[in-house]
Amino acid sequence: MKTVLSLTNVNVSYNGVGGSPVLHDINLKLPTGVITVIIGPNGSGKSTLIKAILKLLPYSGRVQFFNQPVEANYHHIGYLPQRFSFDRTIPITVYELLILSLTECDCAAVTTDRRERITKALVEVGVGSLINQPLSELSGGQLQRVLLAKAIVHEPRLVILDEPESGIDQKGEKTIYTLLKELTQAKKMSVVLVTHDLDLAAQYADYVVALDRKVIAAGNKAAVLNKKVMAQLYGYH
Ligand code: ADP
Ligand code: MG
Repeated sequence: MKTVLSLTNVNVSYNGVGGSPVLHDINLKLPTGVITVIIGPNGSGKSTLIKAILKLLPYSGRVQFFNQPVEANYHHIGYLPQRFSFDRTIPITVYELLILSLTECDCAAVTTDRRERITKALVEVGVGSLINQPLSELSGGQLQRVLLAKAIVHEPRLVILDEPESGIDQKGEKTIYTLLKELTQAKKMSVVLVTHDLDLAAQYADYVVALDRKVIAAGNKAAVLNKKVMAQLYGYH
């Protein structure tokens, strides 16, 4: 199968050269057109790995997106960061936030096409009626869905999501994961997501990476979601 992301000897340290590495010698080839799920305990480096892949952090080694540098392909990638707090009083609407993702447009006029694409993405994540709402008026769950719409509105070839289910109720969780599955099947989009929910991983993953500062295991569900790997990852006995 084709590879969407390949990582070769990736090491990340937060304390510069000589600091103790958070991620050790990561080597991965993630398959294209499927859902890859990254699991691991708190502090195992999942978010760090995502940020290194996106070149939001310095690292040693190499990360490639279809054999090219990731940063030359940002317009082909969507990203939903781990739930974060930001100043929600910034005076913009949902529509205005999403239009920022449609960077390939010539950005002057707001075309019908762009409004249609934004509406479609919002409908897909179940918040179509919020298009003209100010961000400041959204609940936590609504905001998370809007941020998911922002990650997919430009129909990226790869979407990377860090704990997309956080702040969302169970019904919403299912909507999100079903949508991601559909996107891989209908649009051949590749999805890489972090979760700490092993049930969601078992239900939706096509490929699984077990991470604890290094790759403990990577492969299909049977190869990773088994007692031996879980014991190594979470220390169950
Ligand atoms: P996970 O997402 O799996 O919970 P993280 O990637 O957030 O783990 O963190 C991995 C380790 O790196 C943790 O020990 C965390 O404390 C440390 N870490 C994360 N971000 C920073 C930072 N900005 N500066 C220093 N250490 C950090
Ligand atoms: Mg994290």
